[in-house]
Amino acid sequence: MTEVKPLIDELIRPELRGFRGYSSSRDEVEEAPEIRLDANENPFPSGYNRYPDPQPSSIVEKLSGYYGVESDQLLVTRGSDEAIDTILRLVGQPGKDAVRIFPPTYGMYSVSAQIQGLEVIESPLEMDFRWPNIRGEKPAKVTFLCSPNNPTGGSIPLDRLRELLDQSEGIVVVDEAYAEFSDEASAVELIAEYPQLLVLRTLSKAFGLAGLRIGVILGQKFWIEALQSILAPYPIPTPVLEAFLRQFDPDRMKVEVMEIVGLRQRLKEELRSLDTVEEVLPSEGNFLLVRLRCEAEPLRGFLLERGISIRDRSSAFGFPAVRISIGTPLETLKLVNEWKNYTP
Ligand code: PMP
Repeated sequence: MTEVKPLIDELIRPELRGFRGYSSSRDEVEEAPEIRLDANENPFPSGYNRYPDPQPSSIVEKLSGYYGVESDQLLVTRGSDEAIDTILRLVGQPGKDAVRIFPPTYGMYSVSAQIQGLEVIESPLEMDFRWPNIRGEKPAKVTFLCSPNNPTGGSIPLDRLRELLDQSEGIVVVDEAYAEFSDEASAVELIAEYPQLLVLRTLSKAFGLAGLRIGVILGQKFWIEALQSILAPYPIPTPVLEAFLRQFDPDRMKVEVMEIVGLRQRLKEELRSLDTVEEVLPSEGNFLLVRLRCEAEPLRGFLLERGISIRDRSSAFGFPAVRISIGTPLETLKLVNEWKNYTP
């Protein structure tokens, strides 16, 4: 295993090295005491008068089991959007460091980088999904790889990811928000080998729990501790934890993912037969990127008037393109039926 300590010291913002963060009473007293007079809570029960645990063991155990990591290799955040922001706040020195992205890709990497005052280096993603070399003229503190990539749908094979990790000077974040829809192996299995690797997962996509705002960062223990030290103290509200414990169901997820993957294939074939469609990109996510033979915006407006919303992604590509999430069988049927009536 690669030596860990020098890597942390180099990558964490100097002013946050050894930072301990806020210590709540929940952190200091592990076993629930009989009488709790240590957190300025209201003692009269309402169901919600007590602060939740910073990282409740019931959620950490279930998620670390599902992702196949130790419980100290996982941090639960408010969606992976908060995970992206937290990583950049921990390591990114405003006005000094840079972040590398491969556009077209998920927009929050550059949004969070700009908020933190970090330069964004764009190394365009080639359309045949061969990834550019990440060693650029200017070194990047953090490289974001999205696999499967939103909005193109392609994923990075593990051997290619190893090459990228071997070349990287900084942290490599692999965002696997759509991993359950893909057959590619997860980067999680490389965590023990590469201390500079962080993997993001979310319950917002395959698990159908976007409203709960639950994401996770997976990585070696020292990163999890450092990241938690800068997180606001109680990221998982009690009702969210209760809903998670009721709704988290990997078996149900697998059944739904199989159905969505089947619908993705059917929709792809139906879209290909439309005159206005140039190409449907191969997708390993729960969406399809469609290259059009007509302008995207009027088509989007036409469908919206008929109650169907799709995303115009033309500006990211330089050619007319829309991204379509896979809906229910009825929703996808309605989409195709309405689209058939469209003439540019
Ligand atoms: N990563 C990717 C690639 C996404 O597409 C999204 C949401 N569209 C997110 C992260 C954010 O997910 P969450 O709901 O967990 O914040």
